[in-house]
Amino acid sequence: MNTEIKDNWTQIIEFLKENYDVIDVLYRTWILPLEVISESDTDAMIAIDEARQGDIINLIDKRYKIPLQTSIEAITGKSVEIEFVSKKSVPENEGVSSYYNTEDVKTKSIEEKYPFLRSGQSFVNFVVSSSNQLAHAAAVAVAENPNGQMYNPLFLYSGPGLGKTHLMHSISRYIIENHPEYKIRYTTSENFTNDVVTSIRESKSNNKSAMTELRDKYRNVDVLLIDDIQFIIDKESTLQEFFHTFEELFQTGRQLVISSDKPPSEMDGLEDRYKTRFASGLPVDIKPPDYETALAILMQKQDESDVKLSNDILSYIASNARHSIRELKGAYNKVILFSKLTRSSEDITLDMAENALKDFISDNAEIRLTAEYIIDIVCSHFHVDKDILLSDRRTDELVYPRQIAMYLCSQYTSLTQQVIAQKLKRKNHTTVQHGVKKIKDSLPVDNELQMDIIMLKKKLNVN
Ligand code: ADP
Ligand code: MG
Repeated sequence: MNTEIKDNWTQIIEFLKENYDVIDVLYRTWILPLEVISESDTDAMIAIDEARQGDIINLIDKRYKIPLQTSIEAITGKSVEIEFVSKKSVPENEGVSSYYNTEDVKTKSIEEKYPFLRSGQSFVNFVVSSSNQLAHAAAVAVAENPNGQMYNPLFLYSGPGLGKTHLMHSISRYIIENHPEYKIRYTTSENFTNDVVTSIRESKSNNKSAMTELRDKYRNVDVLLIDDIQFIIDKESTLQEFFHTFEELFQTGRQLVISSDKPPSEMDGLEDRYKTRFASGLPVDIKPPDYETALAILMQKQDESDVKLSNDILSYIASNARHSIRELKGAYNKVILFSKLTRSSEDITLDMAENALKDFISDNAEIRLTAEYIIDIVCSHFHVDKDILLSDRRTDELVYPRQIAMYLCSQYTSLTQQVIAQKLKRKNHTTVQHGVKKIKDSLPVDNELQMDIIMLKKKLNVN
């Protein structure tokens, strides 16, 4: 069997990166996840992980096919024709990668020129994980190709504090830095509304050019990013103006990026044709961070800070404050502030941190766990496919996580054993009874089991 390409893959992509000046963020987003599926003397098949990277086969093919072929030839001496294929979505990988510190940011002058940009909000310091990787990959793709042809509109949605604005700023910054020929405008719904209201008022008081100026501002651009669109839904004239702007830009192939607190289909009060329009590009959501992501974000904050917190404390914050990243950062800042205020000469202890966060954390109503959520977390913890966990197969590698899932469901939901059995696709509730007992009996004596349960409880955010 031919494996030269696979065996030398790391060198090949490093060669590519160096010789074709692939910048770090693109390298990590587009090149690193590629995988060699098969190879012969004349061909190679390379998989793109759509779950992580989005639908970018055409783009990768266009930009990297020849460079990759050249790199393969340079490293292995083989001249092959590459075909890119889409990898069937594999179970989600829990890896967390951070672009922090990997790239030089040309700050200052850009921020002076574009005062709307929030400092420190770029792809470089956006922590990528399973909860946001698709949104991130799509944002990178659009930033790299802001020609309205990748995903148009790119529609980002999530609950508050999960990174929509951060991504929109990252896209803006990236385009400003790398594609200065594109004219971009970022605006919040609030600013847009203010502009519309002012223009309408001025045009009524005889300023003939007010509306023209407004249109020039928002329509004479290549890329328009509008943040928190939900706030203009019930503002009739603003909404009208926005749709006309949207249509004009969209029809002429300009790029739109929109953020919202919900997907287009759930935007009550929005006409159906606009829901359809909004959903016609790529609607992509961001989920609350899992434990690993939360921890990675805290580590990143820690790198920027002069006060260092122990791992215990970081882990405590990560497991207790992750409804949103804003909350997570708030909790972290609170502990830091606390430690500065107490000016304790010793390191701050977990007790002190818990104390500092008392109000903060008890404010968060406990999340209600569902069996489905527990099963998902167990599957990802043990790297087993959900379908397989729920199947009839009875190997040890499956029985163990299955029993743990039974145990966690019985501890942290109010479901009956009957229902737990149904959720886990077991025929009989005595299977659940047996499974739960097995775990309970082994727990006091089995270290490995204890570790798994501790980790899982952290991931589930329960005590
Ligand atoms: P949203 O617009 O969805 O309400 P923001 O983009 O304002 O949320 O994010 C809230 C805070 O969390 C900001 O400080 C932002 O920089 C930070 N943040 C969000 N997602 C990430 C991430 N993946 N990595 C690092 N920081 C993040
Ligand atoms: Mg926001």
